[in-house]
Amino acid sequence: MNLRVEEYDKQLFNDLKIDCMKCAGLCCVALYFAASDGFPMDKNSGVPCKFLDEGFMCNQHSALRSKGYKGCTTYECLGAGQKVTQVIYKGENWQSASQKKKEMIEVFIKVKKLQEMKWYLTDALTFSAAEPIKIELVNMIEETEGLTQSAPEEILKLDIEKHRNKVNRLLKELCYLVELSVINLKVAKAKDRKKFVPGHFFMGKNLSNTNLIGADLAGAILIGANLKNADLTGANLIGADLRDANLRDANLSSCLFLTQAQINTAQGSEKTRLPKELVRPMWW
Ligand code: SF4
Repeated sequence: MNLRVEEYDKQLFNDLKIDCMKCAGLCCVALYFAASDGFPMDKNSGVPCKFLDEGFMCNQHSALRSKGYKGCTTYECLGAGQKVTQVIYKGENWQSASQKKKEMIEVFIKVKKLQEMKWYLTDALTFSAAEPIKIELVNMIEETEGLTQSAPEEILKLDIEKHRNKVNRLLKELCYLVELSVINLKVAKAKDRKKFVPGHFFMGKNLSNTNLIGADLAGAILIGANLKNADLTGANLIGADLRDANLRDANLSSCLFLTQAQINTAQGSEKTRLPKELVRPMWW
């Protein structure tokens, strides 16, 4: 059962792909990590990581997982880093313009949130059910894109939550339309699906071989859950915590709002079916 359209504007996804060569290692400066989260050491937000080299690349890149920096391999800025460096600051960086370092970090964190909203809206456009709200989705992508290209002072003043509410209204509409299309399929598989209360706690639960078609798993805690061979067609996975979840042989090809960062933290196999725009992690 495929709920996605065959043809969509792949260009829209290009802006959401990371290009570390065009960034100045912003995530390695902006983000904190801590030994209590499983890292080998603590690093505060705003402090450049000691492994960041002169060209803003990680000098531990090929050994990150074996050295305990798994979190670094799962992080995804969705293109915020290169946008902040190249578009907003026109090639300036936190070293060449060190007086702007704090500002750049705050701008990066906000632009990352906007890029994430753009990812959800773009993902929404790939569903056949989105047809009735297609124009609104495209307009909201353009509006969000416009915000990511504002001057730093405008971005700092931006009420992100207000904008997120507008985006969420559209995403909810899409969920409703996908739900209708799942019901309208009237296949036994769709009728037998399991219903969940949003935000449910499934840490370590065995959901293998489960029919999760159209399930609302928004914000669900699925840490270490067994989803082997589960069917998540039309399931809403926005914000779901999939750390160490077993996605081997699961069907996620038509689930809603899944991100690369979520996939990077989970376990999967060659047979895990992913949405077209997501990349199978090389450690699967
Ligand atoms: S270990 Fe490498 S990827 Fe992780 S923060 Fe440091 S420089 Fe960046």
